[in-house]
Amino acid sequence: MATMTGQRGIARRALDGALDLLIPPLCLACDTVVSETGALCPRCWAKVAFLSPPTCDGCGLPFPFDVGEGALCAGCQRRPHPFARARSAIAYGDGSRSLILGLKHGDRTDAVATFARWMAQAGTPLLAAADLLAPVPLHWTRLFLRRYNQASLLALAIGRISGKPVVADLLRRHRRTRKLGHLGPAERRRTVAKAFAVAPRHAGRIVGRRILLIDDVLTTGATLDGCAQVLLAAGAAAVDVLTLARTVRPAPM
Ligand SMILES: [Zn+2]
Ligand SMILES: [Zn+2]
Repeated sequence: MATMTGQRGIARRALDGALDLLIPPLCLACDTVVSETGALCPRCWAKVAFLSPPTCDGCGLPFPFDVGEGALCAGCQRRPHPFARARSAIAYGDGSRSLILGLKHGDRTDAVATFARWMAQAGTPLLAAADLLAPVPLHWTRLFLRRYNQASLLALAIGRISGKPVVADLLRRHRRTRKLGHLGPAERRRTVAKAFAVAPRHAGRIVGRRILLIDDVLTTGATLDGCAQVLLAAGAAAVDVLTLARTVRPAPM
């Protein structure tokens, strides 16, 4: 059995090698040829802003200087998120927009393994504490248009790296979220929370567990707030959040 897998592994690597010769791997963000699949060219690499401590202990917003363990940003002090901690691998901005759009709308699913590694690194303590991982779901109409949920792909890849169980359909999105820009924060939160539900067959897996939600981008956190609220109402002990990218300006309150 082990030999079979080994042989298959060798065949797979040979096939990957042959494909690399036919279609040389391209930078995840531009069309420059790079040495291996899932890499960035030096120019694009230099433009990606990786996030590291010190950050807000709640939402993960980077701080310009260390203000001590457990410090919260002004936004989290005023209105704590229902999730306990959020961490993100990179800043959402000019250097990362094409990476994220490529994952969302293009066919750059070859980026998933790389992004998952970055996220596992940024979320090491969150992963260590997590009982299970769950992606933020897409509404089926969007799933149909995009063919895949990028958050699910990331969650499955992070599950493989960390060895933590992933429940890809833990949450359901049963209505499309309308544009929320015109709503106040409280109303926005209520609207978003109503859009999500726990899949009944997984209800038993939530009670007393610490759940790590996975998504591609954190902006205002409204979607993640909605998911966290639903999970806490279903009995989760706590909810943390790990995203590939986040906006680095404080969200308007
Ligand atoms: Zn590039
Ligand atoms: Zn914060």
